[in-house]
Amino acid sequence: MRIPLSSPDITDHEIKRVCDVLRSGVLSLGPCTEEFEEKFAEYIGTRFAIAVSSGTSALHLAVKAIGITPGAEVITTSFSFVASTNCFLYEGAFPVFLDIDPYTLNLDPGAILRFLVHGCRREGTRIVNLATGRNVEAILPVHVFGLPCDMEPICHIARQFGLHVIEDACEALGASIRGRSVGTFGEVAAFAFYPNKQITTGEGGMLVTNNERIAEECRSRRNQGRATNQNWLQHERLGYNYRLSDIHSALGVAQLERLSELLHSRQQVAQAYNRALSPLCRSLKLPIDLPDASRSWFVYVVQLLGNSADRDKLIAELNADGISSKAYFPAIHLQPYIYDLLAKKREPLPNTEHAAATCIALPFFSRMTDAQVEYVSQSLGRMLSRIPARVLATAS
Ligand SMILES: *Cc1c(COP(=O)(O)O)cnc(C)c1O
Repeated sequence: MRIPLSSPDITDHEIKRVCDVLRSGVLSLGPCTEEFEEKFAEYIGTRFAIAVSSGTSALHLAVKAIGITPGAEVITTSFSFVASTNCFLYEGAFPVFLDIDPYTLNLDPGAILRFLVHGCRREGTRIVNLATGRNVEAILPVHVFGLPCDMEPICHIARQFGLHVIEDACEALGASIRGRSVGTFGEVAAFAFYPNKQITTGEGGMLVTNNERIAEECRSRRNQGRATNQNWLQHERLGYNYRLSDIHSALGVAQLERLSELLHSRQQVAQAYNRALSPLCRSLKLPIDLPDASRSWFVYVVQLLGNSADRDKLIAELNADGISSKAYFPAIHLQPYIYDLLAKKREPLPNTEHAAATCIALPFFSRMTDAQVEYVSQSLGRMLSRIPARVLATAS
């Protein structure tokens, strides 16, 4: 038995929708993209949704439209997929990585407040980082593994300090805080549809906002800076080809129609893992739930109460049993190009580094069977029973 890390859930329904587009002769800028955008905006509860070629391009357009200044700084998390930092590096901005909460693995609002109060000074309306002399302009929280960040305090802090908020909701389609969908808290938010996400278009992303100016600007920039209702060869601003084709959009519409079914199946698999792994709770930290937020299951990640050598050995042993797993996430601030960018002067991020050294993503997809969950859990149990207790006792 070989169990993959993830696997898309595509039915005849999706195949038919895609084939209809192929037969129609209109392969890009057709009716499916508009339908996908309308239905997506309605589901999230924002006025506008703009379909783009990837989650990364959605984030990049968000940074452009917000108007982050080259040389400015953005507060964000290092425990994420690199795209959440790359999106503002493209515009010449710098990251300020603050530490995560060790339980939620999300950016800690307390750390943001401490940094702004003790690590910055106000100069008029500007917030200047004392350590670098650069202006801090925005906060970019990431809903890591589909668990919502604590958005209410983050938005409150942002308002107090005059900072923009861009939400990276690429892992969290379907998640909410007190009934309010992620992606509606920031001025602008990004979702993504790579094949391992809750819904897929192969490649694709969506930018959502309630701000009409941001929506218009992003619509124009994704299509080579064209004016939205004008001559095809009239370009008003610097633009990109970040369009989502009608073929991809048809897949997106069909997946969105099945979203509640897909989210339900993912939740069932997560619950099966929770039950099967709970006897191992002395060696593994399982994903947590929050009382006032509803997680959308993106991946199933456990944290080994041991060290990174044990973790890497475990991944190799699981692989020998036919089980794909991954060290997930490696910390962004330790990637060589980022380390160089920060002039090798980095603040310690103990919670981030500990999580990056001990997290393991287990196989997780909507059609995973109980037998597969059982097989993974038993393999894991056998391996953990062989790791000496002395090592596990050193866990923080
Ligand atoms: C998937 C993902 C993205 C976007 O990825 P693309 O591959 O560009 O669609 C951005 N941020 C996070 C945290 C992600 O997991």
